Amino acid sequence: MEKRQIAILGSTGSIGAQALDVIRQHPEKLEVYALTANNQVELLIRQAREFRPEMVVIANESKYGELKEGLKDLPIKLWAGSDAIAQVVEAGPIDMVLTAMVGYSGLKPTIHAIKAGKAIALANKETLVIAGELITKLALEHKTPILPVDSEHSAIFQCLVGESNNPVDKIILTASGGPFRKFSREQLQHVTKKEALKHPNWDMGAKVTIDSASLMNKGFEMIEAKWLFGVTPEQIQVVVHPQSIIHSMVQFRDMSIKAQLGLPDMRIPIQYALSYPERLKSNFEPVNFNKFNNLTFEEPDTTRFRNLDFAFEAIRQGGNMPCILNAANEVVVAAFLQDKIGFLEMSDVIEKAMQTGTFIASPTYEDLVETDNTIRMKIMKEMK
Ligand code: MG
Repeated sequence: MEKRQIAILGSTGSIGAQALDVIRQHPEKLEVYALTANNQVELLIRQAREFRPEMVVIANESKYGELKEGLKDLPIKLWAGSDAIAQVVEAGPIDMVLTAMVGYSGLKPTIHAIKAGKAIALANKETLVIAGELITKLALEHKTPILPVDSEHSAIFQCLVGESNNPVDKIILTASGGPFRKFSREQLQHVTKKEALKHPNWDMGAKVTIDSASLMNKGFEMIEAKWLFGVTPEQIQVVVHPQSIIHSMVQFRDMSIKAQLGLPDMRIPIQYALSYPERLKSNFEPVNFNKFNNLTFEEPDTTRFRNLDFAFEAIRQGGNMPCILNAANEVVVAAFLQDKIGFLEMSDVIEKAMQTGTFIASPTYEDLVETDNTIRMKIMKEMK
């Protein structure tokens, strides 16, 4: 494998920091070309000082002065603003762009990166939730691979290696069930953000941790799987597997099932995406089956976790409905994190947004931008 030049969008987040840890262990194979962050300028400066990229961008323009001051002795090109992120990814030497920013903000730079012919290591699942059709079409047109970083999709992707002529019968998407797996509806009504932010297995950012607790993350992953692997929603089965050792499975037409296993450590799928198709040596801990001697499975309960049904419905309707679902979810998760609404209320608001939002069957990029904006404004107004 030739040395790869990597751009990390969202380097100060959980995935970004773990990707840097992977790169730190493989300096002869992977090199940081660009780093971008939204807000955390101090950490960004420290990362830039260690990895010496060519370019660094801070999305929040008010932090530009601090960035400049912190890196003034180094020959690194610096920019500010979200438009700069979309431009930086086009830089000639970049081989691969890791999209690890949060939510809707991933869409525009991903489009730019695909158009510039860069391989995408996709951690920002919202990009495919909002604009799956547009993105997959564009990637095909520009012959750019989209390599999944999401652990479930990395698992499915790994199960499919060598199976290009064998159609997928079913994708079995595993879910930890989150911290409230055993909570009654009554209990769910009173859970706090502190409880929701404690994920039993995975250490992740706040947005995806809340999405995991509400199972919206699994709903998004169904949509992500549809676009990455070309399956129908009926071909995707969600199975709750609380130990998070099996990261997902693929069933073929002979009823043989392949699974990918590992400890819940995001560095494994990150590294696989960055080095694909090669597997690099790692010092990650392997699964000890004497310790994990009871892998269990159960059906998800969609009466307590309604978001799974909403996601299924959004895929079924298609068009801009997944974009409506995502916009509504981003607003309610932010509101929940600010103690403005309750845990179960999040699903009520999302349901209403899907029922009352203007449906567009074949949305353009501009339609999706408009949909996202309208839904956010509407919900924020209604919540006041
Ligand atoms: Mg996942």
